[in-house]
Amino acid sequence: MLHDLANTHNLSHWLKQVMPAWEKLLRFEDDDCVTRIDDWQSQLQTELPSKGYGMEQTVELLSQYIIPNGSVVPDPGFTAWITTGAVNSALLARWSADIASPQRISMTAFHLLEDVALKWLKSLFGLPQSMQGVFTSGGASANLIGLGAARQAAYEALGYDAAETGIPQPGCIFASASTHKTIHRSAAILGLGRQSVIEIETDSLGKMDVDKLRFAIEQEYKLGTNVPIAVVANAGATSTGAIDPIGDIANICEKHDLWLHVDGAYGLPGLLDDRYRDQYQGLERADSVIVDPHKWLGAPVGIGAVFVKSAELLFRGFRQGTSDYLEGVFSNNQCVHSMDQAGIPYADFGIDLSAPARGVVVWAMLTEIGAEGLKARICRHNSMALWLAEQVKSHNKLELLANVSLSICCFRYRSDQIKDLNTFNQQLLRRVIHKGDNIPSSATINGKFSIRPCFIGARTTQQQAEDLLQDVLLIGKALEKEWLQK
Ligand SMILES: *Cc1c(COP(=O)(O)O)cnc(C)c1O
Repeated sequence: MLHDLANTHNLSHWLKQVMPAWEKLLRFEDDDCVTRIDDWQSQLQTELPSKGYGMEQTVELLSQYIIPNGSVVPDPGFTAWITTGAVNSALLARWSADIASPQRISMTAFHLLEDVALKWLKSLFGLPQSMQGVFTSGGASANLIGLGAARQAAYEALGYDAAETGIPQPGCIFASASTHKTIHRSAAILGLGRQSVIEIETDSLGKMDVDKLRFAIEQEYKLGTNVPIAVVANAGATSTGAIDPIGDIANICEKHDLWLHVDGAYGLPGLLDDRYRDQYQGLERADSVIVDPHKWLGAPVGIGAVFVKSAELLFRGFRQGTSDYLEGVFSNNQCVHSMDQAGIPYADFGIDLSAPARGVVVWAMLTEIGAEGLKARICRHNSMALWLAEQVKSHNKLELLANVSLSICCFRYRSDQIKDLNTFNQQLLRRVIHKGDNIPSSATINGKFSIRPCFIGARTTQQQAEDLLQDVLLIGKALEKEWLQK
């Protein structure tokens, strides 16, 4: 007879078995996992077992071959893209949710914290409490939901329910040339097409040029072929951190009764820094706003959030609909058991039906350090980017390639004798990464390849900015010598 032998008890015993491997990884002393690639590939590239190996063996493989061969993302010197390791409070909250409330639905403490955490985020970022928020798997799905609500509103204004019957006429979305590519993908999924995103040029600071935006919008209304759906403003562009002039864009949107979507996946928390606060003026007028708690706030990946001005509109755009398997579980009467009521119908406000409780993670991070603690982190990282830019500007071998905004600094090594600085800096970046202490990524700014650190990690401090500068200078000097000898 076959038995389901999965272990479901004695969790703390197993935790104790894996914890040393976690602790070791988080000391960041080991070489990169690729140095041991033969080892873990040969251990893990196996056939599906017919008979299970049991818990002891599974945990052993986890500790020996999997955890030690993870990613460099949590390392304090990791400044690539916009991603970082999770803080401890977030990890504990996530595991607690996985154990105690595998779903966000029904009247539990975890369900309550979905709402509490969304309210906290609104108050942290000065968004109207009347906005309906929902947690998502990340910024990509948050953008999709925000723009889905915009699509719903735009076609309803013409007498069509786009969620029910599809779109009767093509639409278009206005966004800066440096908008995140998930905006294009959202347009594709929403039936508008990637090409419906009209890219507006940016100015010398990387911000959307509002005159060009105004002109492009007026032209679309004049032509009348495409229904204008929304303008997407960056609150922290991914390459440079540039913040679009949200207030000016809000004025234009208001004039045309056009939806304003603010993509603050990375940069929304930047408004906690008084040096940048003014640049977010007008944010409270947005129709939809997104932020990624799994970026600057320090949640493990899998937690984004979107806020939309109307819960009813969001419901019409995303409702799950009645179905045989969902109705009748809950009671309309008094709630005397957690299963009597579903609670806030988040499944009708987004694209997931089953979903983890994510609010508890945001709640834990903010409960631990408060608004003041987060502000201190944001200010520290922004100061590091400004400090690095000052060093770059005052060094004749370095060149700043973009205006510094928030915690991103785009720069390159330069030499009068080297013509192909793009290839040179690509090689330099590779060598810096291979050394392994500092892991920035890159951005191409006006055709120039730049080294691009984005400081967001809770472990990442001024020391990492100084180390990175030293790595680039030392490795750059050595590489320059090689190039000139060629
Ligand atoms: C990171 C980012 C996204 C995408 O978010 P994911 O969480 O990676 O899906 C969208 N927009 C901006 C501006 C971003 O920086």
